[in-house]
Amino acid sequence: MIEAKGSSATVSSAAPSRTERAVDSAKHHLLQNYKQQPVVLVRGEGAWVWDAEGRRYLDLIQGIATCALGHCHPAVVAAARAQLETLWHVSNVFYTEPQLQLAERLTAAFGGRDARAFFCNSGAEANEALIKLARRYQHEVAGQRERSDIITFEGSFHGRTLATVTATAQPKYQAGFEPLPQGFRYAPMGDLEAVKRLVGPTTAAILIEPIQGEGGVRPAPPGFLSALRALCDEHGLLLLIDEVQTGIGRTGTAFAYQQHGVQPDAISLAKSLGNGLPIGAMVCSDAVGKALPSGTHGSTFGGNPVAAAAAVATWDLATTPEALKANAEKGELLHRLGRELQARRPGRVVDVRGRGLLFGIEVDGGAADVVARCRQNGLLVNLAGEKTVRFAPAFVTSAAELAEGVAMFERSL
Ligand SMILES: *Cc1c(COP(=O)(O)O)cnc(C)c1O
Repeated sequence: MIEAKGSSATVSSAAPSRTERAVDSAKHHLLQNYKQQPVVLVRGEGAWVWDAEGRRYLDLIQGIATCALGHCHPAVVAAARAQLETLWHVSNVFYTEPQLQLAERLTAAFGGRDARAFFCNSGAEANEALIKLARRYQHEVAGQRERSDIITFEGSFHGRTLATVTATAQPKYQAGFEPLPQGFRYAPMGDLEAVKRLVGPTTAAILIEPIQGEGGVRPAPPGFLSALRALCDEHGLLLLIDEVQTGIGRTGTAFAYQQHGVQPDAISLAKSLGNGLPIGAMVCSDAVGKALPSGTHGSTFGGNPVAAAAAVATWDLATTPEALKANAEKGELLHRLGRELQARRPGRVVDVRGRGLLFGIEVDGGAADVVARCRQNGLLVNLAGEKTVRFAPAFVTSAAELAEGVAMFERSL
């Protein structure tokens, strides 16, 4: 509990709590670029976390969809610990086995005869790799030197580097950072005719999230990804899918695009990939991957052995047929609970959306206050877009815990 402050004239003899010290330290020493909740989290186990004052929370956001298997999953801890005690880092001048084990898994799941993986450290970097891949593919492999533009979608989120924030078709993320890199065009999500109007002799690729995460948990409409695939094939464009938030089994398949009957040319991964350790990846077909030969792209830390070992252990548990089925079923449970809640609170609950364990409840206003009250009531969730409260539970969260979470959410409305 945060102690109530006395009047400013009173000199309190009580020492400040850990939380008070942290809030004060952050105010003085951290860049003020985040809107942080006044909680210091110190320990996590599965679906639960504890703060510095000993309070327990049901964590249904899990580091924004990063801790796929929950906090400190024993199998991932064991894999990371074994690697920590063996070899930390050597760069990509040499081979390391955890990175290759991870590449074997990701490329097999991506399909195609000869897929390839590139490793980096974050989602933005994985998308940066997609952008560089698309341009260099058109320029150097397809011989289409004028094809540089990438079409993305309003409400998307692709990262915070200059190129990926420009791919992110939301003005609030771009404001003040001009001049922005050239070569991005925006279409309304789901509007195939608008995309067709944007496609021209300078178009290189289309980049899309199967479910817009930060934009408010908004799934692409049925048939949209396959229509984009057909459009790409017709015009010689690459279909790039941002699976940073949806990947690694969260939506009920290893990658969310697999529910749309399409094969992309390349995808980006990060968030859940390392169960909370920083690692990102781009996976692409061999034909397209030829665009980035020796010397054209790289990352010092990319595919770090500890992060890769954690990712291998995560993948092996998160993408079994049983785990995928369980995620799909828990998603159906969340939808049912969400729709029942909407029926009890019509008007207050506007919509429920998502797939598997990526779920959003849109409220009619004051969503940030709802998130804060959830926290006060012992539930961690966060805001996606202006009006949507996002749930990205760990795959180990039980049906009972999910129901408890939705009940806590209802009490917080
Ligand atoms: C979070 C996210 C990113 C950016 O990932 P970072 O690791 O923060 O750079 C990119 N795309 C999507 C879809 C995301 O959800």
